[in-house]
Amino acid sequence: GSEQLCKSETIKLRNKHIGQACQLFYRSDPLKIVRGQGQYMFDEEGTRYLDCINNVAHVGHCHPEVVRAGALQMATISTNNRFLHDELVQCAQTLTAKMPASLSVCFFVNSGSEANDLALRLARNYTKRRDVITLDHAYHGHLQSVMEISPYKFNQPGGEPKPDYVHVAPSPDSYAGQFTDKLYPGADLGALYAQPIAEICERQQAKGQDVAAFIAESLQSCGGQILPPPGYFKAAYDAVRAAGGVCIADEVQVGFGRVGTHYWAFETQDVVPDIVCVAKPMGNGHPVGAVVTTPEIAQAFHATGVAYFNTYGGNPVSCAIANAVMRVIEEEGLQENARRLGDYLLRQCNELKYEFDCIGDVRGAGLFVGIELVSDREARTPDTNGAHWVVNRMKQLHHVLVSSDGPNDNVIKLKPPMCFNEANADEFLLAFRECLACLCRDREVEAASVAVAPVMGMTNGVIATAAETLANKTKMFERQDRLIKSV
Ligand code: PMP
Repeated sequence: GSEQLCKSETIKLRNKHIGQACQLFYRSDPLKIVRGQGQYMFDEEGTRYLDCINNVAHVGHCHPEVVRAGALQMATISTNNRFLHDELVQCAQTLTAKMPASLSVCFFVNSGSEANDLALRLARNYTKRRDVITLDHAYHGHLQSVMEISPYKFNQPGGEPKPDYVHVAPSPDSYAGQFTDKLYPGADLGALYAQPIAEICERQQAKGQDVAAFIAESLQSCGGQILPPPGYFKAAYDAVRAAGGVCIADEVQVGFGRVGTHYWAFETQDVVPDIVCVAKPMGNGHPVGAVVTTPEIAQAFHATGVAYFNTYGGNPVSCAIANAVMRVIEEEGLQENARRLGDYLLRQCNELKYEFDCIGDVRGAGLFVGIELVSDREARTPDTNGAHWVVNRMKQLHHVLVSSDGPNDNVIKLKPPMCFNEANADEFLLAFRECLACLCRDREVEAASVAVAPVMGMTNGVIATAAETLANKTKMFERQDRLIKSV
């Protein structure tokens, strides 16, 4: 096994040698995960957790086909892609076969950030322009170039200011955004949200500083599991293209069948991007990503005369793994599973709305689901503390891992491995229902949630020592026991 140190020793070494800025789930009582299998993760004591957050472990943690393909290739040859290799070209062939016909050329990279960085370079080189339109609350990665187009990061206190050549359009959130179904009943919200994009294009055109690209996650994830209103991307792409810009789809979170009805999430809006970025699920935990684009954009990049070389991008091991992942998605019918289970989860979560006022909105596509918690349903007041409390209780009491996100961090996010089954959905629903029952049950619980909230912060802070952690955990369980007894 991979466990060599006791948990307190791991925490001590992490505190000493790993930058405190590095994000850690459940910071004051972090999990030490030592093993994964399918949709489950196991801690050092052998406790099983149902994993509802790891969209990276797309076909399931440690899928034997993927492990075998990677191990075999690692034992055969791993070198850079300046040599011919069948896994590389076959990976490109399979990937592009899944895309619209115009997207036939690949560049392999190692992460989502690298993919988006390269996409920006391709777009800027093709258009000979620099300006980029991005969406509010978007996250496109941790590199300097993509941090600049990630309001999720630069809008945080302490974030670096937005550069002049970046323009932010509203997040197409029809529940809590600028244009909602409540404020504009019956209106074409897709058109309303696309309008600011057209306005940015016009404004920049008038200034003689045209837009190079529009980049958007096909479904915003950090932005709060957003499903754009119908017609949104069509109208947005039309405006950008009319102004001579190119359209980039960031499929890093949502690609490879997660949305159930389609292999790519952009297909749900019936658009064809000029550049698509993929990563995370592609390697099932192994770092691999790709930028897929048109021959014209790729040719313009080649015409610069500056060759592209990426030491690890597209190495035979990465490609063998990506090929195995795409094979398993087909063989195990995981896209269809995502559609079926996603429908079931959405239906069941929608039913919970009748029972619990603290659910403001339920939305999703396949195994990409968001449940927005509110303290006042009518006013749609975000319940950030409530969401934190639920995330923590789901882990501590029920051993179910979910996360929260969105502009107000009040959206419970589900994006489990695609092998998630009905029993898993029921396990989640039972636990979630218990949490909501507690959350909705007034004063006493509210007081407890305030007491529990600081214990489970997932943001920056100091990791408690193991002793403190244990004491906190014990106190929390005592509180939770009292709560359960009082139900
Ligand atoms: N784009 C999106 C939509 C993401 O969610 C992420 C990672 N959360 C990235 C890009 C960056 O990917 P990576 O962490 O692999 O660099």
